[in-house]
Amino acid sequence: MPSRSSRRPQASAPPSPRQAKKSAAHPLPAPRHPLVGAHQSIAGGLSKAVERALDTGCHCLQIFTRNINRWDVSPLDPVEVEKFRHAVAAAGLALVVAHDSYLINPASADDTLREKSIAGLVTELERAAELAIPWVVAHPGAAGTQPREVAVARAADGIAEALRRTPDLGTGILIETTAGQGSCLGDTFAEIATLLARIDAVPGLAARVNVCLDTCHVFAAGYALEPAAELDATLQSFDDLIGLQRLVVIHANDSKKPRGSRVDRHEEIGVGEIGGEAFRLLMNHPRLAGIPLILETPKEGVDGKISPENDRRNLLALRTLVAGLEGDEPEPRR
Ligand SMILES: [Zn+2]
Ligand SMILES: [Zn+2]
Repeated sequence: MPSRSSRRPQASAPPSPRQAKKSAAHPLPAPRHPLVGAHQSIAGGLSKAVERALDTGCHCLQIFTRNINRWDVSPLDPVEVEKFRHAVAAAGLALVVAHDSYLINPASADDTLREKSIAGLVTELERAAELAIPWVVAHPGAAGTQPREVAVARAADGIAEALRRTPDLGTGILIETTAGQGSCLGDTFAEIATLLARIDAVPGLAARVNVCLDTCHVFAAGYALEPAAELDATLQSFDDLIGLQRLVVIHANDSKKPRGSRVDRHEEIGVGEIGGEAFRLLMNHPRLAGIPLILETPKEGVDGKISPENDRRNLLALRTLVAGLEGDEPEPRR
């Protein structure tokens, strides 16, 4: 069973990106706050994601456990599973989460697609469990032309059904807040709360469903992240409606699009419309202490080339925003 204790790391100094560039045989020192990491590709094998995490100085990690653009999926190779589990343990990663396929839509009005989505969530949960991953981050789906309440009920029931079909797995679902692009559900804390309440009503499921807050998504959906009083109000609203104890992980992404745009375009930390000040407030907010942050920022730099330097730079940007860590002032990045 996933537990909140999994995101309470032991205190110790964070490694520099250079120190972090070690093989899995040399685990990272246990991190102090903040616990930061990034989504990493599994290209070349699942354990490659752990290598990439170490190479960039991540203390936590998100992966896709499959090709997210296809419905069909081949079973995990037991040798790869063993390699991955060993690499995670050796690396000392404090938390690994999976992200579900973008094809999955448990709210779908099409019964065939919805059943495929439920089965898809089951597959996600099973693969995560095999890999000893406690949580699968999942988007609640899109309403299409359905009335919103109908879609919300179908999404909640679909997620609940996937959890119900996997009673013995120690893996749960983190419903991700969304930007509300198109007819996507989950753009308000109230709607997430409605989804949770309906899932919680099924006996035994409440402990297996929690929340992932994506900073780009909530900002694009209209929530303010600065100044301090506005961030306090946003977090208070989250707490009143959902409960901050259900916030397991934060996706730390700046936004290419303005607040309230309802367009989901991730940007590097401090470079986008959210800006460095909001991230400084987030990183130092006492109500968010101990909650891991995972980057989903672009892997390509301004030159358009994919490089681990881009993750290293964004992880450092987050760390340097924390008071008392590696200098007080972040480098101006605009
Ligand atoms: Zn997502
Ligand atoms: Zn996200």
